[in-house]
Amino acid sequence: MSGYDYDLFVIGGGSGGVRAARIASGHGARVGLAEEYRFGGTCVIRGCVPKKLLVYASRFTDEFEAAASFGWSLETPRFDWPTLIANKDREIARLEGLYGNTLENAGVELHRSRAVLRDAHTIELVAEQRTVTADRILIATGGKPNVDPDLPGVEHVITSNELFDLPQLPQRVAIAGGGYIACEFACLLNGLGVETTLIYRGEEILRGFDGEVRRHVREAMEARGVKVVLGQVFTRIDRTPDGLEGELGDGRVLAADQILFAIGRSPNVSGLGLERLGIEMGWNGHVVVDEYSRSSVPNIFAVGDVTDRVNLTPVAIREGHAFADCEFGGKDVRVSHDWVATGVFTTPEIGTVGLSEEMARERHRVVEVYRSSFRPMKATLGRSTERMLIKLLVDGESDCVVGAHVVGPDAAEFAQLLAVPMRLGITKAELDATMAVHPTAAEEFVTMSRPAARHVRGE
Ligand code: FAD
Ligand code: NDP
Repeated sequence: MSGYDYDLFVIGGGSGGVRAARIASGHGARVGLAEEYRFGGTCVIRGCVPKKLLVYASRFTDEFEAAASFGWSLETPRFDWPTLIANKDREIARLEGLYGNTLENAGVELHRSRAVLRDAHTIELVAEQRTVTADRILIATGGKPNVDPDLPGVEHVITSNELFDLPQLPQRVAIAGGGYIACEFACLLNGLGVETTLIYRGEEILRGFDGEVRRHVREAMEARGVKVVLGQVFTRIDRTPDGLEGELGDGRVLAADQILFAIGRSPNVSGLGLERLGIEMGWNGHVVVDEYSRSSVPNIFAVGDVTDRVNLTPVAIREGHAFADCEFGGKDVRVSHDWVATGVFTTPEIGTVGLSEEMARERHRVVEVYRSSFRPMKATLGRSTERMLIKLLVDGESDCVVGAHVVGPDAAEFAQLLAVPMRLGITKAELDATMAVHPTAAEEFVTMSRPAARHVRGE
């Protein structure tokens, strides 16, 4: 047993920190954890969970329309934002309580306080006005939303953090950004009846995803009523008697009740004391770590968004778990960041595993593209013309499936299941040998017999 107050002190009670603390305690370590806001972190309090609840709410619009096509008649549905937010808050408070209880039951000492590093073994607990010491320290402080600090009128904008707690649903929202949060929030607000405009600086939203997926989703969003403005950024924001006005680079002025900035997130490190300790940090302040999540100071580790590897909840959890197993459980576990499946909860939804077509063609000499685009069966009795897209990318030389992409209902669920065989190196022939489940959308994955295109580098 070390001569410190704790064997491990965890800063941050989010996805990565909570998992690491619980597992380390289970291995017999004396663990303390500080959380300055609410247990559960971004994912539970103002990320994945409340976001998905709002996404569910927004998709009832489709359900009501579909219901009519199946012969149901409904009174004109009405939506009440305060009811949704109150129910969401109740569920988040329940989950927060579970997180706290789980930690306490695991024997972790909780500190409801901001923590700051004083030296490599000393942590200041600001709310408790005292310091504690620890043999090893884990930084799991996550990230925070970016805004453009030099933008005139930036004080008028909100981020995803504030949107979850707005007392009233705004009638008009303009969103800056074209990544996960901007697109998800544009779709969910549009589904709730908000007049929504997305302002993205590039040529096509969702950079990094498959090109065809990006176009398909943007066109579907536009068909559903989201106004997408490409190649523009806000140059100033003004408050007016009617709300806000945002000016774009081309001089256009947009009126909105709220302007939401979703232009990326930065590691939550300011004032944490990392510079004082000489901990190496990357270009945006992220803690640089090795494959065991060890920083440049040997007893200080970091997991999750603060390390800016793959900024997703399951990744933070896996990194926290692996750290605890290695440091306190005598195991040797390295987290693989390959084949991380991801879902984007736009409407229509995206599920993706592996390479985009663009990346596949860069990495492989021969790439076969299998594609299926169709109206989901549930939509066939109604007026919706929205199509589902299913796309497979196959290395034409090894026959291995190197990318799978779905746009449409439950696409993220597809991605989760496809991640398993793809990680194991499944070939197209093995998919073809798998019996279909009929009638489903997923059966397309085992029935696409001919490639829509075959690209050979240099030909
Ligand atoms: P966090 O969960 O952010 O936890 C860090 C904690 O540290 C926070 O609670 C913070 O209050 C605390 N803290 C910070 N500094 C200190 C300090 N000095 N002292 C004490 N406490 C401190 N990921 C998905 O996989 N799927 C999704 O659908 C998804 N949706 C998202 C939607 C939104 C709107 C956002 C913002 C994110 C979403 N994410 C999603 C990303 C996901 O939330 C993060 O990747 C994940 O929460 C990272 O976990 P973490 O443990 O690194 O940090
Ligand atoms: P993203 O990195 O996904 O997107 C940021 C967007 O903002 C990009 O379109 C980027 O453009 C644009 N941008 C960056 N800087 C500026 C600027 N100065 N002015 C204008 N536009 C700018 O970040 P998000 O904030 O959407 O989300 C953060 C992370 O959280 C995600 O990357 C993801 O890891 C995670 N997340 C996961 C979700 C999920 O799993 N479903 C949901 C929500 C978040 P460009 O592409 O041109 O750089």
